[in-house]
Formats: sequence, C-alpha cells, structure tokens
Amino acid sequence: MCLLAQGLAGADRQGRDEAAVLIQGGRVTALGSEALAAGAPRRELPGLWLAPAPLDAHVHLHLGGTVADNLEASRKAGLAAVRDLGHDPKLDMPGSKAGQTPLVVASGPGLGAAGEGSSWLAEKLSGPRDFADAAIQRVSAGAKVIKLFASGLLDFERPGQVQHPMVISQDEMRTAVKKAHDAGLLVAAHASGQATVQAALACGVDCIEHGFFLDRDLLEAMAKLGVYWSPTLAPVLSHARDPEGRYDDATRQRLREIARQQAAQIKRGEELGVKLLLGSDAGAYGLDHGSAAFEEMAAWLDAGVAPGTVFQAATSRAARALGLAQELGGIFSGARAWLLATAGDPRQNPMLLQKPVWRGF
Ligand SMILES: [Zn+2]
Repeated sequence: MCLLAQGLAGADRQGRDEAAVLIQGGRVTALGSEALAAGAPRRELPGLWLAPAPLDAHVHLHLGGTVADNLEASRKAGLAAVRDLGHDPKLDMPGSKAGQTPLVVASGPGLGAAGEGSSWLAEKLSGPRDFADAAIQRVSAGAKVIKLFASGLLDFERPGQVQHPMVISQDEMRTAVKKAHDAGLLVAAHASGQATVQAALACGVDCIEHGFFLDRDLLEAMAKLGVYWSPTLAPVLSHARDPEGRYDDATRQRLREIARQQAAQIKRGEELGVKLLLGSDAGAYGLDHGSAAFEEMAAWLDAGVAPGTVFQAATSRAARALGLAQELGGIFSGARAWLLATAGDPRQNPMLLQKPVWRGF
C-alpha cells in the first residue's frame, strides 16, 4: 500500500511531493517518488500529516492495574513502545508479545539500596559485587535496560529536597554501569538532587530519571555529556491534583511548587540543549497507562517547551534511547509502519498524536 498525505512529520525529507509512504509487510519500504513508482494500491489521506506513533520512556506496567490491561491501554492510546523501569522483584519482567504494540523495553526489578531509602521497585543490594551480579542477572534474564535507584522519593514536606538523597555508593553505581555497558545496555538512574545526579553522571549513567532539584551547572553538564533526561512532570502534577484525597492542602500546595520548579528546569534544559526524553511514570498515583504520555506532553507545552522539542522527545529521541532507532520514532525505509495521520503537523502541535484521524496499526 502507498499512503498519500499532505506532509510527513518525522521523516528526513519533507515536502508535498515527498508525502508518499510505501508500506510492505508492515514496514516502510520507500518514500516520495520511489514510493509512488512502485505502483502499489494507494490510500489517500488528504490534508493529513503522517507521523510515527509516540513512545513513553518511563512506565511501570505492574502499577495501576494488571500488565495485560496496562499494555492494552497503551496500545489503545497508540503508543509504539514503552520502557518499563522497575517493579517488585517478586513479579515477572513484562515483555513484548509478537505482532503486538507497544514494544516493551524492560529493566526488570531495579538495582537499589538494601538499607535506608530502599525502593520497593528494586532488588535490595549491598556492595559493588551485589550490583555487578544483579546487572549480569538482568542481562541474562533479557532486560533491555538497567535501572538504578540512586536516590529516594521526593520529600513532599520539604519542597526542594529528596528523602534519602543518595542511597547507593558511587562504586556500586559504577560497577553496575560497567556491566550494563559491557552487555551493550544503557543505564537509567532514578536520581534527584544535586549530589546524586552529579554522582550518576560521574559514574557514566546514560539517562537521568526524574532529576528534580537540579541547577543550571548540572543541566549544562548533562547537555555536554549528552545524557538523556526524563523529567517526569506528570506524576507530580497528578500527586498535586490528588484524586483520592491522600494529602492535606499544604502538601498539595508544596507539590504544585515542586511541579512549578521542575517545569522551569525543563524549559531551561531545553535552552541548554539537554536531551529531553518523554517519560510519564505511568502507573504512578493517578496516572493511567497510555494517556499519561500525553499528560507529560501537555505539561511540557504548558512549561513553554517548543512543540517540536516535545515531538522529538516522544519519537526519534525516545526511539534512540530505547535502542529502537532502527525501527521506530520516524518515517524511514525499514521503520515499522506504526503510523498515525493527524489533522495538522504534530511538530507544531504534538497533542494531535493523541487524536489521530487515521491509524495504520
Ligand atoms: Zn518511575
């Protein structure tokens, strides 16, 4: 089939005459004049823009429902892939099912502290040897990313602070990073607060997850090192909305303040050239799988981040960070044909990806 649209978002070459995409066997096989020349049956999508389906780089499929239900919600929302970053060690690692969307890039249980500030989404470990063994175990269990829990959770009582600032040592972090990199995997670290993020960068971590309470120097360092940053604003906004009434007014006010600070830092990170990565923390309190990715997008747009940056963070950049750049995140020969058609250019308005007019998968 050859799709004919008004424009392509997420293709190397743009322009009206290029807005033709040949699809064979579930893959994009040619673009533009080459696609037209193949003589395949044509499907006209007049006035629409073709775009790759977005990805969510930070979810917890075991939270907020069953893995099957959460994958189904992600599929319905049109996500091409999700990165699952940590779960209770007693549970099984979620995986991709053949022929189904979304693809799952999973870490298995995180690697975390045994003592204060330990996370229930991580295995409790102590000492570099433990971390090395756990990283090797994840690799052999089929993990596609290694997740470290380097700091505790945000302190809702004291905005600007993290409960248990740094909970694993640099030696532990460095050892796990080495084993992950030896196996060709990236390392994503749950890390907030200056000292922890600085240590994570020094240890060669590839993705900073959350990264609350960073200053300009650290954002500059992240930009210079080319480290990804998934700032997860949606979960803080969701906690602040507090749909189940867990908090008092003062706590909700503090949460709004944390969200306001993070929004400003995301905008600053964009200006400094930090590789922003769209991750929602879906499964966290009040954040449904699938729709959470669009809540994260909307929060960045509210923060003043350019629509094109948001689009890139959810498509081509996310695909690179998830190790899926050869098949997702863009419209190119060899890509999976998981395409959406939107009423306008999603690089100008990425929220259009939430309400595609046509969907090819
Ligand atoms: Zn998370």
